[in-house]
Amino acid sequence: MEKLILKSCEIRITGIVQGVGFRPFIYKLALTHGISGWVLNDTAGVLIRAEGNRDRVDAFISGIKSGKPEIAAIDDIVITPGKFSGIAGFEIEESRLSQERSAFIPPDIALCPDCLREFFSPDDRRHLYPFITCINCGPRFSIIRDVPYDRARTSMDTFGMCDKCGSEYTGPMDRRFHAQPIACRECGPRLSLYDSRRNLVADDGPGTIAAMTKDLLYAGSIVAIKGIGGYHLAANAMDDDAVKRLRQLKGRPFKPFALMAGDINFMKTFLHISERESGLLLSMERPVVLLKEKAPLVSRLISPGLTYTGVMLPYTPFQHHLFSMDREMVLIMTSGNISEEPIAYDDDDAFARLGGIAGYFVTYNREIVAHSDDSVMFVEDSEPYFIRRSRGFVPVPFRSVKPGRHLLAMGGDLKNCFALSKEDIIIVSQHLGDLATPSGYGLFRNVLNHYRRIFDFSPEAVIADLHPGYFTGKIAADFEQAGLTRFNVQHHHAHIASVMEEHGLDENIIGIAFDGTGYGTDGTLWGSEFLVCGRRDFIRAGHFTNFPLPGGERAIHSVWKIGLSLLHDAYGRDIPLMRGEDDKTAPVMDLIEKKIHSPLTCSIGRIFDGVSAILGISREISSEAEAAMLLEEAALRAATEYKSPFIINFTDGETFHISTSSLIRYIADLMMKKIPFDEIALHFHRSIAGTAVAVAEKLRERFSLNKIALSGGVFQNRLLLRMVMGGLKEKKFEVFVNRKVPSNDGSIALGQIAIGKELINT
Ligand code: ZN
Ligand code: ZN
Ligand code: FE
Repeated sequence: MEKLILKSCEIRITGIVQGVGFRPFIYKLALTHGISGWVLNDTAGVLIRAEGNRDRVDAFISGIKSGKPEIAAIDDIVITPGKFSGIAGFEIEESRLSQERSAFIPPDIALCPDCLREFFSPDDRRHLYPFITCINCGPRFSIIRDVPYDRARTSMDTFGMCDKCGSEYTGPMDRRFHAQPIACRECGPRLSLYDSRRNLVADDGPGTIAAMTKDLLYAGSIVAIKGIGGYHLAANAMDDDAVKRLRQLKGRPFKPFALMAGDINFMKTFLHISERESGLLLSMERPVVLLKEKAPLVSRLISPGLTYTGVMLPYTPFQHHLFSMDREMVLIMTSGNISEEPIAYDDDDAFARLGGIAGYFVTYNREIVAHSDDSVMFVEDSEPYFIRRSRGFVPVPFRSVKPGRHLLAMGGDLKNCFALSKEDIIIVSQHLGDLATPSGYGLFRNVLNHYRRIFDFSPEAVIADLHPGYFTGKIAADFEQAGLTRFNVQHHHAHIASVMEEHGLDENIIGIAFDGTGYGTDGTLWGSEFLVCGRRDFIRAGHFTNFPLPGGERAIHSVWKIGLSLLHDAYGRDIPLMRGEDDKTAPVMDLIEKKIHSPLTCSIGRIFDGVSAILGISREISSEAEAAMLLEEAALRAATEYKSPFIINFTDGETFHISTSSLIRYIADLMMKKIPFDEIALHFHRSIAGTAVAVAEKLRERFSLNKIALSGGVFQNRLLLRMVMGGLKEKKFEVFVNRKVPSNDGSIALGQIAIGKELINT
């Protein structure tokens, strides 16, 4: 017989516990264990009152930990014993607002298998209804206006539930119990098809729009499709003309397009997919994953000359429907924007901005409150890396080993995201893109205000990049004028600090930041940094020697000028290569020699650009990393037999100065020996990696440090990453890299927070 010792307690659960089926889960668990009491959502998370036999209450509590819904993330469970009151039954109480607003907001999640099955079942009342969802799937972050998460505080607030949906919503054993966005064809949002002038072409009957969209795409149209975080531009990936047109209209001559294919087995017919990659593709976050082609299937214009293509699987009901029309369909699904502008997500704005690109629009009458682009990842050595952290991952918080005050970090100007910290929680925003556009700037302000509201956040201090010309610096100045403390943080220190924050490191380490350009404390543009640093301070322990950047930081599209500058730096006017067009090169050399618009830099990213130009691979580029990507591709094509790398000369003084000109002379010599440029590209990579390891060893010796962090956009070069990581591990370094945020400027905000926490305390 059970011994009757009664127990009563209050259980406070924090984390991602709202909008993920937590209350119904608790309700069922309470019934299973015969617990009385209640459960409710408040702004801090979930609160439970549990009463009953002690053993049963204990079993109930361990059941919470072991059986939580898959998409929930428990941060903390605090149990406070209370007085037994003898409540009868267990109930789900109305949400209540409490003082503290720290409830976490769940990210947007791909359609779940249960809903997918219902979607394609002719007998189901949501058969082919494109807004089918349940407690385990669907939009969250993108539709939430405020907390606590309840339908009335989402953009579903304009849709009243029909009786059937209402009874599912209130039926505690139903999969749709308290699923805020639930709807059906009777009561929910509707899909419509418009032409580019916003004339209605078709209203949604079951299935009509998917079939029409397929026909339009196959006839060569570009179709804008409203997804979860914004509009995609879709086109048939097999159609060269459509791809060409999209490139032209979008102002994107080179940058590869992301693809979507209907199922993973079909994808395996034309792409190499490892187990780890397939896990990412099928995950509920559904990122774009960079994959190697197995057989040429799609248009060669999708990712011209590149080994890896970004592909994702469908995650909305409409996407699933569209791809069910033809199992072998492959579509371009690229963010709905022009060039580097932010993605369009508001309907009026989408028609205005994309009307000149898309012939048709598939849209629906529910507002996207918070936009996001697709996240982009790749797998290297069986480990996942981010290129862009956005839909599916945002706004999942990071827990920091160092609790701190309320800080706002502005991030950098390119690939911007910002971050906020509150106690020991850090929330990094979705990818906002290039802020140097008028719409980018406005977007930053709006998204920031949204985060301040939903996370009840008011910063005590702001942290910005040291760069005097950054737009984010101007926004920081506004906060400063409003009375907040402002700190400026060096760009590459922030890169390395982001790795320290991710891995909970709080000690001095060696950091290698291989990057584009970042403003240095001496006013030159850094970007090949060997730092010895903690979270608060850093020493610039080594770097490549400076060379002039003709035209400056923002005029980096003429990479041939960088190549010329590197040659001029090594040889003076008497350059052995790139001599073909003296009428063009002479004026650039004049600028360099007279030091006009030619700031000094040591950026590795720019060295990659310049060497790509010297080898004749690139001349003018249209997107940031184009020349470097093509240089990596050339190296990947080269024969890969082992050759010990050329270690670039470096001076062994207080700071290690790695001679950029000796690297360039080495490359030029190989050119003059008529070595094929693929081989030279490979030697170049080996030389950079070998030298990085050699300098790291010197630093280890000098500072007695064995932990080393790698960050910066240049480490998105997988070949270089592999070589540097491999080399360091061979020498028994403990190597840390960005795993939770990209190593490009998407990591700056996180690093700024880590440093800011130290600065505000002193
Ligand atoms: Zn579902
Ligand atoms: Zn309904
Ligand atoms: Fe950077």
